[in-house]
Amino acid sequence: MAPERISPAKHPLALAPVTAPPSTVDGFVREFLNNLNFRQGVALSFSSGNDRYLALAETVRDYLMARWLEDQRRQRERQAKGVCYLSAEYLLGKQLDNNLLASGLTEIATEALASCGIDIDELRRLELEPGLGNGGLGRLAACFIDSLATMSVPSIGYGLRYEYGIFRQTFVDGQQVEQPDRWLAMGSPWEFPHPEAAQTISFGGHTEKYDDDGVERTRWIPAWNVQAVPFNYMVPGYQNGRVNTLRLWSAVATNAFDLGVFNAGDYAEAVRAQTFASNISKVLYPEDSTPQGKELRLQQQYFFVAASIRDFLDNQLSEGYDLANLPNRVIFQLNDTHPVIAVPELMRVLVDERHLEWADAWAITQGCFAYTCHTLLPEALEEWSVDLLGRLLPRHLEIIFRINEEFLAAVREQFGDDELRIRNMSIVGEYPHRSVRMAYLATVAGAKVNGVAELHSQLLRDKVLPDFAEFFPGKFTNVTNGVTPRRFLRLANPGLSSLITDALGPRWVTDLERLRELEAYAADPEFRAAFAAVKAHNKVRLATELKARDGLEVGDGHLLDVMVKRLHEYKRQMLKVLHIVTLYEGIASGRVAASEITPRTFVFGAKAAPGYAMAKRIIHLINAVGSVVNDDPRVEGRLKVLFPPNYDVTLAEYVIPAADLSEQISLAGKEASGTGNMKFALNGALTIGTDDGANVEIRELVGDDNFFLFGMTEPEVEALWAKGYRPSEYYQTDADLRRAMDLIASGAFSGGDRSTFEPIISNLLYDDRFMVLADYASYVAAQKTVDAAYADQDAWTRSAILNVARCGYFSSDRSMRDYIDRIWHTPPTP
Ligand SMILES: *Cc1c(COP(=O)(O)O)cnc(C)c1O
Repeated sequence: MAPERISPAKHPLALAPVTAPPSTVDGFVREFLNNLNFRQGVALSFSSGNDRYLALAETVRDYLMARWLEDQRRQRERQAKGVCYLSAEYLLGKQLDNNLLASGLTEIATEALASCGIDIDELRRLELEPGLGNGGLGRLAACFIDSLATMSVPSIGYGLRYEYGIFRQTFVDGQQVEQPDRWLAMGSPWEFPHPEAAQTISFGGHTEKYDDDGVERTRWIPAWNVQAVPFNYMVPGYQNGRVNTLRLWSAVATNAFDLGVFNAGDYAEAVRAQTFASNISKVLYPEDSTPQGKELRLQQQYFFVAASIRDFLDNQLSEGYDLANLPNRVIFQLNDTHPVIAVPELMRVLVDERHLEWADAWAITQGCFAYTCHTLLPEALEEWSVDLLGRLLPRHLEIIFRINEEFLAAVREQFGDDELRIRNMSIVGEYPHRSVRMAYLATVAGAKVNGVAELHSQLLRDKVLPDFAEFFPGKFTNVTNGVTPRRFLRLANPGLSSLITDALGPRWVTDLERLRELEAYAADPEFRAAFAAVKAHNKVRLATELKARDGLEVGDGHLLDVMVKRLHEYKRQMLKVLHIVTLYEGIASGRVAASEITPRTFVFGAKAAPGYAMAKRIIHLINAVGSVVNDDPRVEGRLKVLFPPNYDVTLAEYVIPAADLSEQISLAGKEASGTGNMKFALNGALTIGTDDGANVEIRELVGDDNFFLFGMTEPEVEALWAKGYRPSEYYQTDADLRRAMDLIASGAFSGGDRSTFEPIISNLLYDDRFMVLADYASYVAAQKTVDAAYADQDAWTRSAILNVARCGYFSSDRSMRDYIDRIWHTPPTP
């Protein structure tokens, strides 16, 4: 229920707008001490670090509050068209620094705390990042809401407030062990719970037809309910006085527990049902790219989209809004298939609850949704079994069947009774069991369907959904991903940011194409020296952090070669491992003198899905290779392999600005876009990469001379696959490859135990869909050109500067402009 609104208050103060505290050091100190005393309930002299961190966060919030309340009021009043971004994941990263930067308070806060005897850096470290996402997809959502706020686009992000986010990764004997992520244990100062605004979300039961004054209607009689409590988060734009909202839903049991059961004497059973309900938002599923069809996951998906749609219709629309106009008021952007159950939910609300005609409701629905596809891997395309859907959401299944029936009738009309085509396009698949193909449902319902890089969008049209592209000409489009320059350049790389601002002025932060002007500076020896000094400084900063965090040593003066991203076979961390083992084997066998090797520190960061055995074994191997290589005196410290555990946004912000070389080595045609690749290039790392995802666009922009390309192209991959991929032929003909694989198989990295890594070797030789061995020779050759290029430090720095200068295109602000132009048509409301 929408809360009752209060008519103009009696006291004149209640009519005055909320005002921010004075933006001065003294004003900040006063507010900070107030928060420490009145909210945390401690005196400064007795306060703990956590008290101070919370009071600091509350103070920053107070400064943003007036704008936030004002923007919420305005969005409701104006009723301008806005975006509802529906995403099961938001990988936000730490909030304090971002919000200080957005509000322009960084210096005032630093000085204010110093005047209280507090080092703000110590408080920064106490913040736990909310890990409410797995990897690229969740981080993309976080970048997008930052850009929308910075560009003053009316928007709300909707998602799930997982009590436990992505697990914390630790290593025990080199193997991944998952720990629960207790990000809420110390309290989160950035969220505003609104239990009074909870929605009731229903599940299960059955449907029935009834007669409503001569009209046959359907109603859903659900079996159980759960409460969805909204938690609001501020999403401040960059120094533009704008604050948008991210609303995450948390599940709690409905008020009354089952009195019937309780009265029957089974107290424990009555409580169990309660616990069951609150499980829905308990934990983020840690699979990235290979979702498991788990019932709780479907519950999570329906839970958050049903609450979000209801919230929008009940609380964001003006009284008596004519729903026929809804497509002019909102676009629900579906971040992958996770929120697609929103489509039948909106239909259910419009038809069953608001009593619209089916055809009218369908026209509205088709105008209100757009779908972003994030994958090319068939196993990542979500399907839900008809059985499960029927049990959990019986009315939605009926609606999906009817959508499918009408869609297939239209297909028949256009293409005739081409049964194979009909079967291929059906939203309901029959084999291996009856299931609903969520990507198809999204494609049929969405006004637009987009891929996330040029190559990906082309493959989506030509390979993944060709029948749909033919049936819906004009529906398919591309929006290449982007990353926010606020977090990944301005905050993560203060040294480079100052250098850029000194050269170009400050406006690049919101207009990243301005980096182009740095091209001229690449020719300036003084600028190159300053740029190189920043890189060197960032490496020291990383070295200090890794030493303190994990006791790891970055090699002095080494080329820093970095591969950080989720662990997945398609991303091909194994290619990197084979390169390292090849270098090591050369030294260990005495064929290569250590002194001939370019000193390199290899940094890995990667979490594996807990149930993904091969990925976990690869993590084990990387750690095992690291401990042998790092300790072998014959290497003379010229190769180091570091694997700091728990790669997250916080670690990314240390690693990326320090990197010389960015590893983007997926099999061509498998990585939809990648965004890590963009973060590195913008921070002046050179990329070694395949012609895949957004690498293609990065290379086009930075130029072949400033990018190390290797490997098969996507058509070459297809051709080889069609002809028959025979990995053992590479093994037999390439002596370096054979020696590297034999060394792993010999047990050299597993204390002589040949069985430990045998499954990895067999997989590469007999069963590798991702063709690691086919690209090995090309990869190793490209790494030799990297060594040669790195020998000329000045030329390398020039290339690095050109990478920064030419990658302004990859700002998520540009992605937002493309969404607005091609899909949303939601003008900014400054
Ligand atoms: C950017 C980012 C990713 C995505 O990296 P890819 O290389 O594009 O897979 C994953 N995790 C974190 C923490 C990130 O910041």
